[in-house]
Amino acid sequence: MQESCGVFGIVEKRERQRNFKIHHGLGQVDKAYSDTALKRMGKLAFQIFFALKGLQHRGQDSSGMAVCCNAGIGHNRYSTTGGVNKKNIQPIQGSFRGIPFALAHNGNLTNTLELKKIVEDCGAVFEEGVSDTRIIVKLIEISIKQDFLEALEDSLLKLRGAFSLVILYRDKVIAAKDSFGVRPLCFGENEQYYAVSSESCSLDHLNIQLLREVKPGELIIIDRYGIQSKSWILQTKKKICLFEYIYFARPDSVIDGVPVHRARRKMGCYLACEHSPKILSGQAIVPALDSGLLAALGFRDCTNILLVYEALFRAHFTFGRTFIASTQDSREFGVSLKFNPVLFDIENKRVILIDDSIVRGTTAPRLVKLLKTPKKLMGKIYQGAKEVYMLVTAPPYLYPCYYGIDTWRYEGELIAGQCKGDIEKVREKIGADYLGYLSLESTIKAVVESDLTGKLKPCDFCTACFTGNYPIKS
Ligand code: 5GP
Ligand code: SF4
Ligand code: MG
Repeated sequence: MQESCGVFGIVEKRERQRNFKIHHGLGQVDKAYSDTALKRMGKLAFQIFFALKGLQHRGQDSSGMAVCCNAGIGHNRYSTTGGVNKKNIQPIQGSFRGIPFALAHNGNLTNTLELKKIVEDCGAVFEEGVSDTRIIVKLIEISIKQDFLEALEDSLLKLRGAFSLVILYRDKVIAAKDSFGVRPLCFGENEQYYAVSSESCSLDHLNIQLLREVKPGELIIIDRYGIQSKSWILQTKKKICLFEYIYFARPDSVIDGVPVHRARRKMGCYLACEHSPKILSGQAIVPALDSGLLAALGFRDCTNILLVYEALFRAHFTFGRTFIASTQDSREFGVSLKFNPVLFDIENKRVILIDDSIVRGTTAPRLVKLLKTPKKLMGKIYQGAKEVYMLVTAPPYLYPCYYGIDTWRYEGELIAGQCKGDIEKVREKIGADYLGYLSLESTIKAVVESDLTGKLKPCDFCTACFTGNYPIKS
């Protein structure tokens, strides 16, 4: 559906003579790189490969990496702007005064057309479906500045929208965040390496210790001698994506000082507080695996209602969406491949179904139906749930995202938007016996209270998809 991308960069703390090399592959990380391809790229490629595996949840369409000297970067792509095809795979290669560089982007620009015109006026010719990332590369290439960093800063000033960038140039990895810091990006270090990553979970896999989140408007320059930080823009205002905490990020990541699993568990607890009168008559909690699990645990902590983990058993098959789409009746079939309900412990019970979000409303009605449909086994009928109360650990998703999550494509399909925020109408559509969302206040409170640094404030989040309050004006 609509994920964000994952970016990674690594610098080894010793000199290496390695020519610039780049590799692109379609599909998930396992498919995109063969053993031979990784060996051709050199030893550092294996580190990048494992880091990208750790960021797989952020994009499965394609993956790529580039290495040079003692440094390298990688990217997992989920198409936001520009279709799924080989030429849009990142990192995208450019050339600055004859020296190759590579750039990987997580986010989405909101002034792509304007920028495209600028670079076309300088003679660039693009094929159809050009990605916003390729336009950033072009801007750097055509900059009048003679120094790469100056050319980069010059280009960043022209961009509008959300971007967390990782760039490979000679023996350096350079990372930059937009002035609102919408998409996550952090960095860390161990004895051998420095690394930057969309999420700290991939640093953990490489035994690299998280140092901190890159700040809004910050530029981080890493070479084998150390990390330098500077601001490429002075006016900044933190607006980190609230949805990262609700759904996108891996629960074992720490995003801007917040352990994601902790925030999600608290969201579950606040959900129980906000809907307590009705919900306390529930007899079983069922998480919409895997995204609802941590909230369900928090909910259980606060209510002591039985948690039936396996009621919507999730089969972890790995194949792309196109594979399912090629079969008939793909939507129904897709759900039956994803979830296999195990009804024994919820028979005739009032079930509390917990999920992180309702976006288009495709998943929720199916889950409600799966939980309520009897199953015939060995000649005996096992009933499903008597009633299903659906609870969501986010406010109603009313407005499309233009900052790297693909919901602008579904404008008009957002179920809460279609129902003009009327929750009773959404409930009817998904067929649940009760529907409750988490208030925006409590969602933010759950994140802020989980912050290890004690620095995050309630106004530090982008909440546009819930409030229509878009922080970046285009
Ligand atoms: P819906 O089916 O309502 O369109 O989407 C909500 C469901 O999809 C929830 O179960 C949620 O965990 C999941 N979800 C929410 N946002 C995204 C996303 O960006 N990508 C994917 N793959 N799933 C999402
Ligand atoms: Fe995140 Fe929503 Fe803002 Fe998009 S609009 S960046 S999904 S909070
Ligand atoms: Mg889900």
